[in-house]
Amino acid sequence: MATTHKTRMLIIGSGPAGLSAAIYGARAGMEPIVVQGLQPGGQLTITTDVENYPGFREVIQGPWLMQEMQAQAEHVGTRMMWDTITSVDLTGGTFKAIGDGGDIYEGDTLVICTGAQAKWLGVPGEQELSGKGVSACATCDGFFYRGKKVVVIGGGNTAVEEALYLTNHSDDVTLIHRRDSLRCEKILEDRLFANPKISVLWNKKVDSFVAGEDGQLRALALTDTATGEASEFETEGAFVAIGHAPSTELFKGKLAMDGTGYLLVQPGTPKTDIPGVFAAGDVCDHTYRQAITAAGMGCMAALDAERYLAEKEFTAG
Ligand code: FAD
Ligand code: NAP
Repeated sequence: MATTHKTRMLIIGSGPAGLSAAIYGARAGMEPIVVQGLQPGGQLTITTDVENYPGFREVIQGPWLMQEMQAQAEHVGTRMMWDTITSVDLTGGTFKAIGDGGDIYEGDTLVICTGAQAKWLGVPGEQELSGKGVSACATCDGFFYRGKKVVVIGGGNTAVEEALYLTNHSDDVTLIHRRDSLRCEKILEDRLFANPKISVLWNKKVDSFVAGEDGQLRALALTDTATGEASEFETEGAFVAIGHAPSTELFKGKLAMDGTGYLLVQPGTPKTDIPGVFAAGDVCDHTYRQAITAAGMGCMAALDAERYLAEKEFTAG
């Protein structure tokens, strides 16, 4: 039977943004509920080594970090729900979300932390070699490829920024693009072409990622999109950078978004265009996309949610 769960702070998403919002919300007495979704713990649960989350001298594991964050959130009073939200109603005084089993979640405030997912090519070997030479985040994993030959796949701002970033670790970076021109900003293109550590391979489509005998990435199988010629390109690291998709389907027509589906917030705040509804993390940030920035925004959202309710309750007398 469907149950109604009420809270002063409803959080959708259990990545670093959602769990950080929960820790701050619980400590402010908001008794938050976190609806975890299909990926409890968020994107960091699909990676291994994390070296850039502050507080840990040694390399830590992404899934472990997220378990610890969840345990901390629960320890201070967060209720975790194994459910996925399928629809929301943001029109009333309280915000309603319906879970896929029919449960109703009602929040006096709503914090949206549904994150984003990297787009993948969907070709053979990509999933199997993820974490074994194939990645979708140079800022996260570039360090593990220092001194190695690496490639970046894509031709937009993200791909070019990833290629430039990787030159901090590698002197041999190749950008592989399916056309003969980039779609990135001119300034980035100029920097790319001026960088002696970067070569560009034009008109090449990736057909598959090829493993070596050690089970790690050895090469990419390519087809020339102009001539149809097949070739192989040896590399130790491949960064897929063909864009990200924010998880915002639920909020279409209900909250302001940019042209690519990211939720719009007032600059420098987690406030959406509906008072009492906040967004934090990758769902509203296509620039930084890091665990620490998502966690910071989650904290800001909880603080603003608490202030919003205090003000509302004070005004109501
Ligand atoms: P996410 O982590 O994306 O979490 C989104 C949450 O929303 C999930 O729990 C999901 O289940 C939930 N959700 C979505 N839809 C619904 C719904 N309808 N109902 C309920 N819940 C829903 N960053 C670093 O700082 N360092 C790293 O080393 C690093 N490595 C990475 C490695 C990989 C392979 C990837 C993919 C990313 C990496 N990142 C790293 C980036 C980092 O993981 C993200 O920036 C961060 O997880 C974003 O946090 P978030 O809370 O905004 O969203
Ligand atoms: P994007 O602009 O959509 O570019 C994606 C790139 O990947 C394109 O070059 C595209 O090729 C290629 N691609 C897509 N699918 C592919 C496939 N299946 N196989 C091979 N290649 C594929 O994405 P983005 O670079 O992530 O940028 C997204 C948005 O964020 C943009 O608005 C961008 O301006 C913004 N952004 C801004 C900054 C910044 O301001 N510094 C940084 C990052 C992102 P085609 O060119 O052939 O379509």
